[in-house]
Amino acid sequence: MLRYETIPVTPFQQNCSLVWCDQTREAAVIDPGGDLELIRDAIARHGVTLKQILLTHAHIDHAGGTAALAREFALPIVGPHPADQYWIDALAQQGRMFGLAAAETFAPTRWLQDGDRVEVGRSTLAVRHCPGHTPGHVVFHDPQTRRAFVGDVLFSGSVGRTDLPGGDTDTLIASITQRLWPMGDDTVFIPGHGPESSFGIERRTNPFVGGT
Ligand SMILES: [Zn+2]
Ligand SMILES: [Zn+2]
Repeated sequence: MLRYETIPVTPFQQNCSLVWCDQTREAAVIDPGGDLELIRDAIARHGVTLKQILLTHAHIDHAGGTAALAREFALPIVGPHPADQYWIDALAQQGRMFGLAAAETFAPTRWLQDGDRVEVGRSTLAVRHCPGHTPGHVVFHDPQTRRAFVGDVLFSGSVGRTDLPGGDTDTLIASITQRLWPMGDDTVFIPGHGPESSFGIERRTNPFVGGT
């Protein structure tokens, strides 16, 4: 069974998640934006073995610590979808754009596509391509524990911004209604920022996608 701990990192309090299989204790870090000492602490506290980095998208608060963490633990970098290559290329400029220290660029070991699967120990995460916030944004879904790690696609009471280069509001709403809602109302999602919620709660109450 998949377990996880969410670790807010960077001045944007981005929800990096340490996820692991409770049988093999093999782990992955989703979106290591920075503050690597906090991520190392969580790995040590849970006694897990870090095997890979998973990326939802390549904004600096999500991907800024990727190159350093991959080097330190000799890890493969899995994701995002190749349409986010231009954000990876822009990691140095993103520091200026968002008021953070410049981040080192990297090359994903494995790009992700809609319908791909990623193994974490004996758990399997299903990959859905959810463009709109960025063109190459993906989410990771664990049907067994009914959890989804959705990055900046959907938040409790809000949705991802679409005013940055490559963003598109109609595309984002379609990603949410066509790719997230079918995961089920009782699925709890871990957003890139702020508290967890469920798709059912958002379908009923979210002012941007409520009633869809
Ligand atoms: Zn973002
Ligand atoms: Zn973010």
